[in-house]
Amino acid sequence: VRRAVLLLLGATVASVAPPAGAAGASAPFEAWPYLPVAERLMQQATNQTLGFRRLEYLCDTFGPRLSGTTNLEAALDWIIAELKRDGFDRVRTEPVLVPHWVRGEESLHLLEPHPRPLHALALGGSVATPAEGITAEVLVVKSFADLAAQAAEARGKIVLYDFPYTGYGSGLPYRSRGASEAAKVGAVASLIRSLTPFSMQTPHTGMMRYEAGVPRIPHAAVSVEDTLFIQRCHDRGQRVVVRLRLGAQTLPDAPSRNVIAEVTGREKPEQFVVLGGHTDSWDVGTGAIDDASGCLATWEAARLLRQLEPRPRRTVRLVLWVNEENGLRGARAYRTNHNDELPRHSLALEADLGVFRPEGFSFNGSAPARQMMQAITRLLERLGASRLEPGEGGADTSPLAQAGVPVSELLTQRERYFWFHHTVADTIDKLQPDEFNQCVAALAVVAYAVAELPELLPR
Ligand SMILES: [Zn+2]
Repeated sequence: VRRAVLLLLGATVASVAPPAGAAGASAPFEAWPYLPVAERLMQQATNQTLGFRRLEYLCDTFGPRLSGTTNLEAALDWIIAELKRDGFDRVRTEPVLVPHWVRGEESLHLLEPHPRPLHALALGGSVATPAEGITAEVLVVKSFADLAAQAAEARGKIVLYDFPYTGYGSGLPYRSRGASEAAKVGAVASLIRSLTPFSMQTPHTGMMRYEAGVPRIPHAAVSVEDTLFIQRCHDRGQRVVVRLRLGAQTLPDAPSRNVIAEVTGREKPEQFVVLGGHTDSWDVGTGAIDDASGCLATWEAARLLRQLEPRPRRTVRLVLWVNEENGLRGARAYRTNHNDELPRHSLALEADLGVFRPEGFSFNGSAPARQMMQAITRLLERLGASRLEPGEGGADTSPLAQAGVPVSELLTQRERYFWFHHTVADTIDKLQPDEFNQCVAALAVVAYAVAELPELLPR
């Protein structure tokens, strides 16, 4: 009954008095005492324009930010200067050596049944073709099992994986291991259908790997339309011949940085709530959705917490990781550098699914901690962002999860996320300032409540 009354109050009144009397040891955790500040944070977040203007400026000024590029380093310099201007505590960087892969010039041309250019992007980490390209017949396969069944046909051909897309994960094995599996049966190059549910001839890049001891063949993603075209020809028994040219290069590792800024806790400064996104992006588009938006939304949430009076009980630490896309070196460096502090990390929260309309959070932690997180996300009912679902958390927090830190990720209305993911169309015009602000509000409230809890989230 008390909860029902408070729910009603919470829906209509901006300032609700915390329920009187401390809960008994066996009573479930309630987050309603945090509602007045949560309401204030949500109000402040929705009245801001600075965060979205900074997001636009970052994407338009520095462009794509692949690890190893001067674009990325210039963007990091600007971010650091702005964080200092905001008045965060201990704004600093930690060095990270990152892979340096360069795309170069590339093309995929159809030669038979008729000549025309096709739409393709090399996958990150791919080797180049010879300068004249690789010209070969295409063998279409639906799966690795299908490749094994047609292994005798693959020698000397370019294998195209046209797997049924049933979600991002369904195509990942072909993107990451497709080249090595095709090379094992004698293919000279490999292609994948782009990992997306929707396409307007936009190929999607992403990370791939080579298996040790297997010949390294070029590997690229083809647009869904061109994949289906080749599939139809193949099904009719028509010969499809293409010429693939990739100019990719892997240069020596390059120096880069994680960026860290803090809001020092008023009572437990040695305990942390971490939130952040990743500063690097792929080299196509401007990485607005993935993940400049996550960086700016968490940054803006932390900035609102910095302005709170009094400040949260424990330290809120903004971590902007580098090299999520093709190495995860920033995430690993953070874990190594802060290993001693990890038992004092209450939560690590990432935003890396775009700043579309927020729906809630994923959470990976103990059952008692989950109950507390569920109570906290209920503060976001007004935003429609109170869902809490089990999940792995973001890629950058995965090394922390392995070390036992509870992790969470902002969930958004993300069906559009994979339309633009890793394409030339990942640009700022796909995002809306009001949705961005709602994400800021959700992030600020969760980070605030966890930083304000009497104790660390139980492990
Ligand atoms: Zn990302």
